[in-house]
Amino acid sequence: MVKGNTVPMNLYSQSTYYFGVDEVYSFHMGLMQRMSAAQDEYNPEDFVNSVTLDAEIAPQLFRKLKNVAALIDTAKEIEDFQAIGVQCRKTLIELGSHIYNPMMAGSGEQPQASNFKRKCELFIQFYLKESENPDYRNIIKKLTEATWDYANKITHSRSAAYYEVSTCVTLCISLVGVYKNILQKVFDPLSQYHCSICQSKKLSIAGDDSDKDGIVQKLYLHCEGCGGTTEVVFEKK
Ligand SMILES: [Zn+2]
Repeated sequence: MVKGNTVPMNLYSQSTYYFGVDEVYSFHMGLMQRMSAAQDEYNPEDFVNSVTLDAEIAPQLFRKLKNVAALIDTAKEIEDFQAIGVQCRKTLIELGSHIYNPMMAGSGEQPQASNFKRKCELFIQFYLKESENPDYRNIIKKLTEATWDYANKITHSRSAAYYEVSTCVTLCISLVGVYKNILQKVFDPLSQYHCSICQSKKLSIAGDDSDKDGIVQKLYLHCEGCGGTTEVVFEKK
């Protein structure tokens, strides 16, 4: 429910939160998961799985990346290495299609199906406000463009060998992980808040006020650091 591109943008704008019934439900579900996750011990393997995607962002992408990674082992000739570049390129196009939704272009022109860079650009513009995420946006943009350009270079390279091709595959895997992270950030409703008293980010939802339609108007966030309560008020548009 709180996944994919179906949740309205206004859910993420800074001062004008507006929850529908579904979102309220998801919000509470997310909270439950968040609380139980906080109690589990940190497992490094989970982190690796999350970087290398596990499944969530797209099983088909994961499968492709694994196949490409397996090709590295048997590649010997220039054509083999170039072919891996081609597969990396295809995987990136698949990533672009996976994260992009036509509504992200608004009234602007739709990118062509294989225009990976443009789809990523629109995705980033849609989910990450420039004013709130300048460094984050900047590094993602650079990584996205560099990965795409490098994969394309490899498809024509006469000199790329095992190491260059491994780097290219690693960049692709990382990039898929990066976009998964962005989606996680976007759909983590508490990530942008901190305690108004001690600035701690260890917050959990202690309660909320909703109107008669179930729309959340105010949230009470409990701080684990100082025990204080931070109020978040959502204004209707
Ligand atoms: Zn506090």
